[in-house]
Amino acid sequence: MSRMGVTGLGFGRYFTRHMALARWTHGSGWSGVELTGHGPLALSPAAMALHYGQAIFEGLKAYPQQDGSLALFRPGVNAERLNRSAVRLAMPELPEELFVEACSAVVRADADEVPRGPGQSLYLRPFMIAVEPSLGVRPALEYLFAVIASPVDHFFADGYQAIDVWCASDQIRAARGGTGAAKCAGNYAGSLAAKAEAVAQGCHEVLWLDAQERRWVEELGAMNFFCVTQDDGAPLLVTPRLSGTILAGNTRDSLLRIAPDLGVRVAERPVALDELTDPRGRVTEAFACGTAASVVPIGAVTTAHGRVRIGDGRPGKITTMLRDELAAVQYGTQPDSYGWMHPV
Ligand code: PMP
Repeated sequence: MSRMGVTGLGFGRYFTRHMALARWTHGSGWSGVELTGHGPLALSPAAMALHYGQAIFEGLKAYPQQDGSLALFRPGVNAERLNRSAVRLAMPELPEELFVEACSAVVRADADEVPRGPGQSLYLRPFMIAVEPSLGVRPALEYLFAVIASPVDHFFADGYQAIDVWCASDQIRAARGGTGAAKCAGNYAGSLAAKAEAVAQGCHEVLWLDAQERRWVEELGAMNFFCVTQDDGAPLLVTPRLSGTILAGNTRDSLLRIAPDLGVRVAERPVALDELTDPRGRVTEAFACGTAASVVPIGAVTTAHGRVRIGDGRPGKITTMLRDELAAVQYGTQPDSYGWMHPV
């Protein structure tokens, strides 16, 4: 196809020819996976997802390998997270094999549409929505699970550089007991106004704080947060604990396992905004991470009190080392010593 192998794919703009579908009905459970052409869904205007928001999703990638094959990165982690989201939104869980089979089927069918330039990959979007036509406020009795796929560019197709983040102080993303740890559509709808505010402030993304004290850093709109401190002279990679309001990122978990193997100590502990913005502080690097963008250096934090640079404002050494190591595992340029790659 003409769009392949050229720059300008962006993210989530183009879709491949196929999609996978499975249906759940109360009483019968899940159907098998059906591979079909990517196209419009026939949906009742009373489909419950449209009214009460029973809609959850995932995001994972198939990476081209050195030998030309394709492999999914830790799809089981996404399958488990989808099921945790399902439980939170009173939706049916999906057998992990069905999740992986649906993802693999789409990748296999559309292997010729996977871009193979540096940093390119096939982004998969599995999702589940309530399709039962009813206006009663209760869990639906019919659901659709689907996987669609989008050929995507490297996030930094225009050059690797640090982003600026905006610290929203009058809005929150998640509160304890809420849905912050679930990957549900409503969380993202609720974040869009703050994202627009971030852009108006000249920033790229929102850095969310905790709901109670507005003091602790939680995560970004669609990425987890890390920083590097020099607590006792040696670098320490720090990320907030998964306290129930943060999404458990696959990338986050992977970096926490890769870092010690590269000689970088890690700690999961609270990170105060003050610690990050203290000009005499010990934070030398900060970055965000997620499937879509991999590792994204954070160069500055802007709050109502102004803009504070992190370190020298440029991508940090440890940030870049982690990014390169993760890419080496995902693209198979080094042996998969973690057993994370799932051939399709
Ligand atoms: N936090 C949020 C809110 C997200 O939407 C995402 C993207 N799924 C992440 C973190 C990063 O998760 P992952 O590394 O699994 O992509």
